[in-house]
Amino acid sequence: MKKHISLKEKIINKLFYTNTVVIDKPGILIHKFYVGFGLFEIKRRMAYFFEDPLVDIHINVEKKLGKKKTEEIFYKIGKDIGVKFISQMFNRKMPKAICFTFFERVLEKFSFLGYSITDIVKFDKKNLHIVLRGKDNIICRKCGIGHIYSGLLSGILSSLLKENIEAKKTKCCFNSDYCEIVIDKNFSKEYFPEKEMYYGETKEYEKTNFPEDVNYTEKFSSFYDLVKFKKAFIDNYGKYYFVNKSIIATDINFPSIIANRLIYFNLKHTVEKSLKSSSERVFLKVMPNFKKQDEKINFLKNFLSALGWGTPFFEKSKKLKCTFIYPPRSKYRFHYFAYSLNGFVNAVYGRDFNLSKIDESNQFKTIVEFE
Ligand SMILES: [Zn+2]
Repeated sequence: MKKHISLKEKIINKLFYTNTVVIDKPGILIHKFYVGFGLFEIKRRMAYFFEDPLVDIHINVEKKLGKKKTEEIFYKIGKDIGVKFISQMFNRKMPKAICFTFFERVLEKFSFLGYSITDIVKFDKKNLHIVLRGKDNIICRKCGIGHIYSGLLSGILSSLLKENIEAKKTKCCFNSDYCEIVIDKNFSKEYFPEKEMYYGETKEYEKTNFPEDVNYTEKFSSFYDLVKFKKAFIDNYGKYYFVNKSIIATDINFPSIIANRLIYFNLKHTVEKSLKSSSERVFLKVMPNFKKQDEKINFLKNFLSALGWGTPFFEKSKKLKCTFIYPPRSKYRFHYFAYSLNGFVNAVYGRDFNLSKIDESNQFKTIVEFE
């Protein structure tokens, strides 16, 4: 069993041990880290998401398409994410030794965020054969489909080494003692992500996700505020919770790519419906029993800002208009956030709203409307 670590220790560890600096302001969560002996500074906008809606997407896609096809789709999505993740940082080819060191650093960082298939049990660099294991891995521990992880690792290595490498999920903690992923350069070719995935981040990403002067017109919570008020905590295994529900910190691109790709695979209705109903269910479980509507809205606003989703303002007339200031911006758009928000507002207002508009035309503002 891992030693219990307090959040303070964890933040200190992040600052001094893993070389990651966490910027945690209301509405804005940024991780900065250094690679290549501090030569490159990498800055990523992050956000927290509930684990359960991500699990339910897997379950609902499986209901529609069956296990095999679902595993295939999530492997592809994982690979897209992995390729994109590395392309955002490096575009040129690096020596193999550096690639492998960097790969190990990425695994270390993932294990810090609650992904557990990160223990290297075999690392044959010469023949490129890697075996990874871990217990109680987020998402697949609840649905048994962890192909997004084998895809992710395949994408990361393919992008780092600039050659196609496939990975296989061979065991899952859902019905076994641990999850296992095997990576081998001799595995037959499964999937090549589109060229676009190999492009780096746009200038727009820098401009919109790391605003310089942030002015708040009212008081919002940061994630650390939730921890202070014991609304959020980290368990003995390094997993994060909001009240009693597990949450995951990820790069904002990850869930955005998941929604974007599922829409691309003609699963728009499934992903929208699944995220909406699952988010509503989970929000009803974490929201205290408030009597007044204002208290519920206030709770939602602070919850969203602490999760790094920007600072939200709600206007309700015939429609419900939600304006996020300094929201996460991804070229894969805001759908994942908007579908989830749909569930949260349904829980708060006790209504069945439908998403009618996502407007991202303003640089520092995203408007989402429900009818
Ligand atoms: Zn698993």
